[in-house]
Amino acid sequence: SRVKIDPAQIEYTSDKQKNAVQALIDEFTISPELLKDIKNNFMEGMQKGLKKDGETLAMITSYVMGRLDGSEVGSYLALDVGGTNLRVVSVHLTGGGEISTRQTKYRIDEKLKVGDAKALFDFMAVCVDNFLDEHQIVVRGDTQIELGFTFSFPVLQTSINRGTLISWTKGFNAAGMVGKDPVAYLQDAFNRRHIPVRVAALVNDTVGTLLAHAYHHPDTVMGVILGTGCNGAYIEQISNIEKWKGDAAAKEMVINMEFGAFDKERTILPLTMFDNKMDRKSVNPNKQILEKMIAGMYLGEITRNVLLNLIDRRLLFEGHISPDLNQMWTFETAYMSTIEADASPTLHATRKILESTLSFPATSLNDRQIVKLVVELVGKRAARLSAAALAGILEHTGSWKQKSAIGIDGSLFEYYPSFDTDIMDGLEEVFGPVVRKNISIGLAQDGSGVGAALCALLAAKHSTSVV
Ligand code: BGC
Ligand code: MG
Repeated sequence: SRVKIDPAQIEYTSDKQKNAVQALIDEFTISPELLKDIKNNFMEGMQKGLKKDGETLAMITSYVMGRLDGSEVGSYLALDVGGTNLRVVSVHLTGGGEISTRQTKYRIDEKLKVGDAKALFDFMAVCVDNFLDEHQIVVRGDTQIELGFTFSFPVLQTSINRGTLISWTKGFNAAGMVGKDPVAYLQDAFNRRHIPVRVAALVNDTVGTLLAHAYHHPDTVMGVILGTGCNGAYIEQISNIEKWKGDAAAKEMVINMEFGAFDKERTILPLTMFDNKMDRKSVNPNKQILEKMIAGMYLGEITRNVLLNLIDRRLLFEGHISPDLNQMWTFETAYMSTIEADASPTLHATRKILESTLSFPATSLNDRQIVKLVVELVGKRAARLSAAALAGILEHTGSWKQKSAIGIDGSLFEYYPSFDTDIMDGLEEVFGPVVRKNISIGLAQDGSGVGAALCALLAAKHSTSVV
């Protein structure tokens, strides 16, 4: 069933409205040619980042140089920070590929995200402490529990559990942390409270996702997050990493690309005034440009900016706004998922969000159709830009030519209708139909939790580096 709005079927209230809608379609549509241009530009960025530090695509060496085969046994803790919630997970590997987990989510106060760094890390330690109590995890004698710390921000790593924060993203901006080691802060917070936990590994969520997916799908080549933020990690040949000064014996290394930072120079991405306005008002203006066009934290705000503009031109809701929609960040990306999926002829679910959640007085079918069309444009652009990035990685590694798996985690990928099919369509435009046979994209649930535990296990096995 077709749930997408057909712009030709809308009964426009005026030619002006019709033209405005057409202009939006033109502005937000990524043609196959542009998708390929972005992919090529992205590949150049990958090459630059592999040569030296400080490039737009950071291409961070994760110090994860091995894979697992499912035979491992042990119990580990994982702490996942960097999405909407903080999570503590205990992961039990029973061998034979079996994994059991228990987890608790904690909400991070907005004030903590932008306050004092020490307070933020103390909060993390307290959550882990609570978790140990709650699950009656007892530690005897001098032993310590090994913890994998999923810290989903750009960290320039110098070992498996050491590194410096390059910058905050996703609404975090705790003072004085850039250039510091997040592991040292966390370990210090544990030690001051006599919490018997050792931070064994620092893991990006994309790296965790790759490891967790590979645990069940050995042909995994890439781990991707499409959630609050976005990013990818893939397996690179050490011989291709010119900037690598470490262990020369290792063959492969997982690279945390930090691809959300792509096109800081603004040379290729088709930014609109609606993107620019959102960026200007974000806590990290001029940073994470690709992330801001893809990730769940931002899509709702871009959509809101488009709707506001139509309202100001009296082309939507007869020029009226609701006080709710007038506030920044009120149009959640979760609403977009619901509106995308709205298949009723009267757009009932869309009406509910506009009238019940956002307190608009009566809306017309014309209003709702235009809102849905705007949502579809913003969502599809995000999926096609994701496709451009994934295509860049697949072409760089050549893995599109053989059977390969991609593990993707994150709320956007999990809940946004048609994100996966739009990504596949984009990949097909680049590689042709063969890509559907070779590449499987799967939801890698809880990559951050399980992946971090697997990384802690690898680190414990091999002390400093994982081979
Ligand atoms: C961070 C990445 C992370 C991604 C997904 C981005 O903002 O910079 O490190 O992998 O979000 O959580
Ligand atoms: Mg997450």
